[in-house]
Amino acid sequence: MGTKIIKCSECATINKNTDYCTFCNSLISDAKKREQKAAKVKQAEIDKAVKKLENPSLAERLKKHPYFLYKILGWILYSAIMIVSAIGAGLAWFIAMIAAG
Ligand SMILES: [Zn+2]
Repeated sequence: MGTKIIKCSECATINKNTDYCTFCNSLISDAKKREQKAAKVKQAEIDKAVKKLENPSLAERLKKHPYFLYKILGWILYSAIMIVSAIGAGLAWFIAMIAAG
């Protein structure tokens, strides 16, 4: 393995074979930076998924609303979404059948 010389972008210190600046401790390794960025993106995706799970849709929230009118509205919205997705699934199936036939 050869010597890797990296100039710190923060303080301009010349570093050898290190991922972090010996002077200011900033991350200077490009590979490591990319790695961290990828990890960050992945974490953001996870956060988004968790948020989605913790924050159900408007229909789900309305269904649990203490005020009955909102609750009914939630059920209507929920049914509408169900019907629309059922129609969508049926349509997709229909198109698939036509394409297959
Ligand atoms: Zn530095």
